[in-house]
Amino acid sequence: MQDCLFCKIERGDIPATKVYQDEHVFAIKDIEPQAPFHFLIIPAKHVTTLNDLTEADNALVGHMHQIAKQLAQQHGFAETGYRTLFNCNRGGGQAVFHLHLHVLGGRQMSWPPG
Ligand code: 5GP
Ligand code: ZN
Repeated sequence: MQDCLFCKIERGDIPATKVYQDEHVFAIKDIEPQAPFHFLIIPAKHVTTLNDLTEADNALVGHMHQIAKQLAQQHGFAETGYRTLFNCNRGGGQAVFHLHLHVLGGRQMSWPPG
């Protein structure tokens, strides 16, 4: 998508620190980290929100979680713990309208979230 921030990062038009890449997804460090580790796992294809996922995307969403687990293991916070989350639409806290899975680790997470 022409005007989408994460499509631009995927194309290399905007720089980001990539921590993972394959043909289906890539992962970057969040520019405004909310925890010592804060990664965004992003599908290579443009999906606007969680509401736009179909059954055909089930493998993609599962794969995104496998990458979350892998990044947590690689960066040493899988055992202490971490949080994964999708924000969906403005009321859910979504600001970038290209689906992304947040992975936050390295500190104690609070519940309920704000
Ligand atoms: P959302 O609120 O849509 O769930 O999350 C968007 C996330 O993208 C935020 O945590 C924000 O800090 C991050 N973000 C926004 N712009 C950029 C950018 O240009 N580069 C990177 N790496 N992260 C960004
Ligand atoms: Zn996009």
